[in-house]
Amino acid sequence: MNYNYHTHTFRCRHASGTPEEYIQRAIQGGIRYMGFSDHFPFAFPDGRESGYRVPIAEVKDYFSELNVLREKYRDQIDIKIGFEMEYYPTYFDDMLKNAVAYGAEYLILGQHFIGEEYPNGMPSGRGTKEIAQLQEYVSCVVSAIQSGAFTYVAHPDIFVFQGEQAVYDREMRKICQASKEYNVPLEINFLGIRETRFYPHEEFWRITGEVGAPVTFGCDAHTVQSACDPESVEKAKQLVQKYHLNYIGMPQLRLLQER
Ligand SMILES: [Zn+2]
Ligand SMILES: [Zn+2]
Repeated sequence: MNYNYHTHTFRCRHASGTPEEYIQRAIQGGIRYMGFSDHFPFAFPDGRESGYRVPIAEVKDYFSELNVLREKYRDQIDIKIGFEMEYYPTYFDDMLKNAVAYGAEYLILGQHFIGEEYPNGMPSGRGTKEIAQLQEYVSCVVSAIQSGAFTYVAHPDIFVFQGEQAVYDREMRKICQASKEYNVPLEINFLGIRETRFYPHEEFWRITGEVGAPVTFGCDAHTVQSACDPESVEKAKQLVQKYHLNYIGMPQLRLLQER
Protein backbone atom coordinates (compact mmCIF):
# COMPACT_ATOMS: atom_id res chain seq x y z
CA MET A 1 0.00 0.00 0.00
CA ASN A 2 1.74 3.14 -1.21
CA TYR A 3 -1.17 5.56 -0.72
CA ASN A 4 -3.28 6.92 2.14
CA TYR A 5 -5.80 9.74 1.80
CA HIS A 6 -7.17 9.60 5.34
CA THR A 7 -4.91 11.55 7.71
CA HIS A 8 -5.81 13.89 10.56
CA THR A 9 -3.81 16.59 12.36
CA PHE A 10 -3.65 18.01 15.87
CA ARG A 11 -6.03 20.77 14.76
CA CYS A 12 -9.09 18.55 15.25
CA ARG A 13 -8.17 18.34 18.94
CA HIS A 14 -8.30 14.54 19.10
CA ALA A 15 -5.22 13.62 17.06
CA SER A 16 -1.60 13.89 18.20
CA GLY A 17 1.77 14.64 16.61
CA THR A 18 2.88 17.24 14.10
CA PRO A 19 1.99 17.03 10.40
CA GLU A 20 5.69 16.80 9.59
CA GLU A 21 6.02 13.72 11.78
CA TYR A 22 3.09 12.12 9.95
CA ILE A 23 4.75 12.83 6.61
CA GLN A 24 8.08 11.40 7.73
CA ARG A 25 6.42 8.29 9.08
CA ALA A 26 4.44 7.85 5.85
CA ILE A 27 7.57 8.18 3.71
CA GLN A 28 9.43 5.73 5.91
CA GLY A 29 6.54 3.25 5.53
CA GLY A 30 6.53 3.43 1.74
CA ILE A 31 3.59 5.80 1.26
CA ARG A 32 4.06 7.85 -1.92
CA TYR A 33 0.60 9.39 -2.24
CA MET A 34 -0.68 11.01 0.93
CA GLY A 35 -3.75 13.07 1.70
CA PHE A 36 -4.54 15.17 4.75
CA SER A 37 -8.24 15.00 5.46
CA ASP A 38 -8.84 16.56 8.82
CA HIS A 39 -12.38 17.08 10.09
CA PHE A 40 -14.11 19.82 8.12
CA PRO A 41 -14.37 23.24 9.82
CA PHE A 42 -18.00 24.16 10.18
CA ALA A 43 -20.29 26.42 12.21
CA PHE A 44 -24.01 25.85 12.67
CA PRO A 45 -26.34 28.83 12.13
CA ASP A 46 -26.16 29.78 15.83
CA GLY A 47 -22.37 29.95 15.60
CA ARG A 48 -21.62 26.68 17.35
CA GLU A 49 -18.58 24.79 16.09
CA SER A 50 -18.25 21.06 16.80
CA GLY A 51 -15.40 20.21 19.15
CA TYR A 52 -13.93 17.53 16.90
CA ARG A 53 -13.30 19.72 13.85
CA VAL A 54 -10.56 22.07 12.71
CA PRO A 55 -11.66 25.44 14.15
CA ILE A 56 -12.62 27.88 11.41
CA ALA A 57 -10.08 30.28 12.87
CA GLU A 58 -7.31 27.79 12.01
CA VAL A 59 -8.25 26.96 8.42
CA LYS A 60 -5.59 29.26 6.98
CA ASP A 61 -2.93 27.77 9.24
CA TYR A 62 -4.02 24.24 8.30
CA PHE A 63 -3.36 24.96 4.64
CA SER A 64 -0.29 27.15 5.02
CA GLU A 65 1.47 24.67 7.28
CA LEU A 66 0.70 21.73 5.00
CA ASN A 67 1.63 23.68 1.87
CA VAL A 68 5.09 24.40 3.25
CA LEU A 69 5.57 20.73 4.10
CA ARG A 70 4.28 19.63 0.72
CA GLU A 71 7.00 21.68 -0.94
CA LYS A 72 9.66 20.50 1.48
CA TYR A 73 8.97 16.82 0.80
CA ARG A 74 7.82 17.03 -2.81
CA ASP A 75 10.60 14.79 -4.12
CA GLN A 76 9.64 12.01 -1.74
CA ILE A 77 5.88 12.08 -1.51
CA ASP A 78 2.87 13.56 -3.32
CA ILE A 79 0.67 15.36 -0.79
CA LYS A 80 -2.90 16.54 -1.26
CA ILE A 81 -4.84 18.66 1.22
CA GLY A 82 -8.53 18.16 1.82
CA PHE A 83 -11.10 17.31 4.46
CA GLU A 84 -13.23 14.54 5.84
CA MET A 85 -16.75 15.94 5.74
CA GLU A 86 -20.31 14.89 6.49
CA TYR A 87 -23.29 15.19 4.19
CA TYR A 88 -25.95 17.28 5.90
CA PRO A 89 -28.75 18.04 3.43
CA THR A 90 -29.52 21.53 4.76
CA TYR A 91 -25.92 22.67 4.87
CA PHE A 92 -24.25 20.69 2.11
CA ASP A 93 -24.20 23.37 -0.59
CA ASP A 94 -22.60 25.87 1.77
CA MET A 95 -20.17 23.30 3.15
CA LEU A 96 -19.02 22.39 -0.33
CA LYS A 97 -18.71 26.03 -1.35
CA ASN A 98 -16.61 26.72 1.73
CA ALA A 99 -14.44 23.68 1.16
CA VAL A 100 -13.62 24.92 -2.32
CA ALA A 101 -13.09 28.49 -1.09
CA TYR A 102 -10.72 27.29 1.65
CA GLY A 103 -8.66 25.58 -1.05
CA ALA A 104 -9.48 21.95 -0.35
CA GLU A 105 -8.33 19.67 -3.16
CA TYR A 106 -10.51 16.70 -2.27
CA LEU A 107 -13.08 15.44 0.22
CA ILE A 108 -13.82 12.09 1.75
CA LEU A 109 -17.20 11.42 3.30
CA GLY A 110 -17.31 10.59 6.99
CA GLN A 111 -20.97 10.44 7.99
CA HIS A 112 -20.42 10.60 11.74
CA PHE A 113 -23.94 11.83 12.51
CA ILE A 114 -27.50 11.69 11.31
CA GLY A 115 -30.02 14.42 12.08
CA GLU A 116 -27.43 16.93 10.90
CA GLU A 117 -25.43 16.52 14.12
CA TYR A 118 -26.77 19.50 16.06
CA PRO A 119 -28.93 20.34 17.96
CA ASN A 120 -30.94 17.10 17.63
CA GLY A 121 -28.60 14.76 15.79
CA MET A 122 -27.38 11.31 16.73
CA PRO A 123 -23.91 9.78 16.34
CA SER A 124 -23.98 7.13 13.61
CA GLY A 125 -22.27 4.64 15.90
CA ARG A 126 -24.59 4.97 18.88
CA GLY A 127 -26.75 1.97 17.99
CA THR A 128 -30.45 1.96 17.19
CA LYS A 129 -33.30 -0.30 16.16
CA GLU A 130 -35.13 2.53 14.39
CA ILE A 131 -35.41 1.74 10.70
CA ALA A 132 -36.03 5.41 9.92
CA GLN A 133 -32.65 6.30 11.42
CA LEU A 134 -30.87 3.65 9.38
CA GLN A 135 -32.67 4.97 6.31
CA GLU A 136 -31.61 8.50 7.07
CA TYR A 137 -27.98 7.41 7.31
CA VAL A 138 -28.26 5.56 4.00
CA SER A 139 -29.99 8.48 2.35
CA CYS A 140 -27.22 10.90 3.41
CA VAL A 141 -24.47 8.60 2.17
CA VAL A 142 -26.21 7.92 -1.14
CA SER A 143 -26.81 11.65 -1.70
CA ALA A 144 -23.17 12.33 -0.93
CA ILE A 145 -22.08 9.72 -3.47
CA GLN A 146 -24.42 11.18 -6.07
CA SER A 147 -23.13 14.71 -5.46
CA GLY A 148 -19.83 13.81 -7.13
CA ALA A 149 -17.95 15.84 -4.54
CA PHE A 150 -16.43 12.98 -2.57
CA THR A 151 -13.42 10.92 -3.56
CA TYR A 152 -14.59 8.03 -1.41
CA VAL A 153 -16.75 7.00 1.53
CA ALA A 154 -14.76 6.55 4.75
CA HIS A 155 -16.00 3.81 7.09
CA PRO A 156 -19.35 3.36 5.29
CA ASP A 157 -20.12 0.71 7.90
CA ILE A 158 -19.93 3.10 10.88
CA PHE A 159 -23.71 3.01 11.42
CA VAL A 160 -24.77 0.56 14.12
CA PHE A 161 -28.17 -1.01 13.50
CA GLN A 162 -29.59 -3.36 16.11
CA GLY A 163 -32.75 -4.32 14.26
CA GLU A 164 -33.37 -7.10 11.76
CA GLN A 165 -30.50 -8.25 9.63
CA ALA A 166 -32.70 -8.35 6.52
CA VAL A 167 -33.49 -4.66 6.95
CA TYR A 168 -29.81 -3.81 7.40
CA ASP A 169 -29.01 -5.77 4.24
CA ARG A 170 -31.73 -4.14 2.20
CA GLU A 171 -30.74 -0.59 3.22
CA MET A 172 -26.95 -0.91 3.15
CA ARG A 173 -27.17 -2.51 -0.27
CA LYS A 174 -28.35 0.90 -1.53
CA ILE A 175 -25.01 2.42 -0.48
CA CYS A 176 -23.11 -0.35 -2.23
CA GLN A 177 -25.17 0.02 -5.38
CA ALA A 178 -24.69 3.80 -5.46
CA SER A 179 -20.97 3.32 -4.88
CA LYS A 180 -20.81 0.99 -7.86
CA GLU A 181 -23.03 3.10 -10.10
CA TYR A 182 -21.16 6.35 -9.42
CA ASN A 183 -17.77 4.70 -9.02
CA VAL A 184 -17.15 6.17 -5.56
CA PRO A 185 -15.17 3.61 -3.55
CA LEU A 186 -15.97 2.37 -0.05
CA GLU A 187 -13.14 2.47 2.48
CA ILE A 188 -12.06 -0.33 4.76
CA ASN A 189 -11.08 1.81 7.71
CA PHE A 190 -7.86 0.98 9.54
CA LEU A 191 -8.73 2.96 12.67
CA GLY A 192 -11.59 0.51 13.13
CA ILE A 193 -9.18 -2.39 12.65
CA ARG A 194 -6.53 -0.99 15.01
CA GLU A 195 -8.99 -0.24 17.77
CA THR A 196 -11.19 -3.28 17.10
CA ARG A 197 -14.20 -1.03 16.75
CA PHE A 198 -17.62 -2.05 15.46
CA TYR A 199 -16.31 -1.47 11.96
CA PRO A 200 -15.14 -3.00 9.68
CA HIS A 201 -18.53 -4.70 10.04
CA GLU A 202 -18.35 -8.00 8.21
CA GLU A 203 -22.01 -8.06 7.24
CA PHE A 204 -21.53 -4.80 5.38
CA TRP A 205 -18.55 -6.13 3.44
CA ARG A 206 -20.41 -9.30 2.56
CA ILE A 207 -23.02 -7.12 0.82
CA THR A 208 -20.29 -5.02 -0.80
CA GLY A 209 -18.80 -8.18 -2.26
CA GLU A 210 -22.13 -9.31 -3.63
CA VAL A 211 -22.76 -5.96 -5.29
CA GLY A 212 -19.18 -5.63 -6.57
CA ALA A 213 -18.74 -2.04 -5.37
CA PRO A 214 -15.21 -0.58 -5.57
CA VAL A 215 -13.21 -0.82 -2.34
CA THR A 216 -10.19 1.12 -1.13
CA PHE A 217 -8.20 1.36 2.12
CA GLY A 218 -7.61 4.28 4.49
CA CYS A 219 -5.36 4.57 7.55
CA ASP A 220 -7.56 7.16 9.31
CA ALA A 221 -4.38 8.27 11.08
CA HIS A 222 -4.90 10.17 14.33
CA THR A 223 -1.37 9.33 15.53
CA VAL A 224 2.04 9.54 13.86
CA GLN A 225 2.51 5.80 14.11
CA SER A 226 -0.62 5.09 12.07
CA ALA A 227 0.36 7.30 9.11
CA CYS A 228 1.25 3.95 7.63
CA ASP A 229 -0.17 0.74 9.01
CA PRO A 230 1.10 -2.51 7.50
CA GLU A 231 -0.61 -4.69 10.11
CA SER A 232 -4.04 -3.36 9.22
CA VAL A 233 -3.29 -3.81 5.51
CA GLU A 234 -2.97 -7.53 6.13
CA LYS A 235 -6.28 -7.69 7.99
CA ALA A 236 -8.04 -5.63 5.33
CA LYS A 237 -6.66 -7.94 2.64
CA GLN A 238 -8.19 -10.88 4.48
CA LEU A 239 -11.58 -9.16 4.25
CA VAL A 240 -11.01 -8.57 0.54
CA GLN A 241 -10.35 -12.26 0.05
CA LYS A 242 -13.13 -13.49 2.27
CA TYR A 243 -15.86 -11.45 0.58
CA HIS A 244 -14.35 -11.33 -2.92
CA LEU A 245 -14.21 -7.55 -2.76
CA ASN A 246 -13.46 -5.42 -5.78
CA TYR A 247 -10.32 -3.84 -4.30
CA ILE A 248 -9.17 -1.04 -6.61
CA GLY A 249 -6.08 0.09 -4.70
CA MET A 250 -5.48 3.83 -4.69
CA PRO A 251 -8.69 5.83 -5.19
CA GLN A 252 -8.94 8.17 -8.11
CA LEU A 253 -9.10 11.66 -6.62
CA ARG A 254 -12.08 13.84 -7.43
CA LEU A 255 -10.32 17.17 -7.46
CA LEU A 256 -12.53 19.96 -6.16
CA GLN A 257 -10.62 22.83 -7.68
CA GLU A 258 -11.32 21.45 -11.16
CA ARG A 259 -15.09 21.30 -10.69
ZN1 LIG B 1 -11.19 11.98 13.98
ZN1 LIG C 1 -14.30 9.36 10.40
